[in-house]
Amino acid sequence: MFTPVAGRTVLVTGGTKGIGKGIARTFLEAGARVAIAGRDPDLGAAAVSDLGTAGGEVAFVRADVGVAADVERMVADTVERFGNLDVLCPNAGVCPDVRVVDMTEEDIDAIFATNVKGTMLAVTASVSELARSGHGRVIITSSITGPITGFPGWSHYGATKAAQLGFLRTAAIELAELGITVNAVIPGNIEIEGLDDPASDWRQRLASSIPQKRLGTVADIAHAILFLATDEAGFITGQTIVVDGGQILPEWPLPDSGSESSRGAA
Ligand code: NAP
Repeated sequence: MFTPVAGRTVLVTGGTKGIGKGIARTFLEAGARVAIAGRDPDLGAAAVSDLGTAGGEVAFVRADVGVAADVERMVADTVERFGNLDVLCPNAGVCPDVRVVDMTEEDIDAIFATNVKGTMLAVTASVSELARSGHGRVIITSSITGPITGFPGWSHYGATKAAQLGFLRTAAIELAELGITVNAVIPGNIEIEGLDDPASDWRQRLASSIPQKRLGTVADIAHAILFLATDEAGFITGQTIVVDGGQILPEWPLPDSGSESSRGAA
């Protein structure tokens, strides 16, 4: 049985929608106190209202994670509201679409500001509070894109998601002596609000390429993060866990269900 995370304080950047909101909901259902951060106060208020019934205690803190002063205030506001900080989930991320041949300096700076600088600033601003908790946890949301796979339009995005993992491996070593673990989840394709038409051909083709024949849910990601936040995961650091229904495994297009493989043994 895992030691409950009830009463622990969790800060989720990008917690106002998508995967971050799912992370917040799962921690709230486990009885934690959760601060969700984002840039849009209206989105933040709507998320607090929606998450309010999940259990625990939730608050919105406004911050652009690419701006150091915002991130310092985000952590200070969280600690002022809840008294401490046990778990940091640097999850805020953007995924614009641009081909290498069209990419500008602004495209590169903008995505690195949120996905890489935002992750690193959140960790550096949280270190002293996480150390004070005695069981500090950092759990980063990376992606299969970059560390493992590629896709047209996402070269800069993939670079940021791989950079997060480069950061975490040395951060895990340095922060070990402060009792802080640093790990990452690596999601495959996840159902979030605003994704294309549920019945679209694109979605069906994507699902059929995944061994489990479905996209992931935000809860799939959140439960892996919840595990890494437990006391029982305290000896795991500097690691990544892929949560993708087997998406990265096939070395050849999967045969349709029920049909025989179209290719002989390798
Ligand atoms: P999403 O639905 O677009 O949500 C992004 C969240 O991040 C929002 O709360 C947004 O709020 C916030 N955000 C964006 N830029 C920010 C900034 N500069 N400062 C503070 N907050 C910011 O995205 P998502 O799909 O859930 O993605 C969340 C994370 O999962 C990302 O790191 C992404 O790379 C990763 N991921 C997603 C998938 C997927 O299939 N969805 C797959 C692999 C990895 P505001 O806009 O109000 O700031």
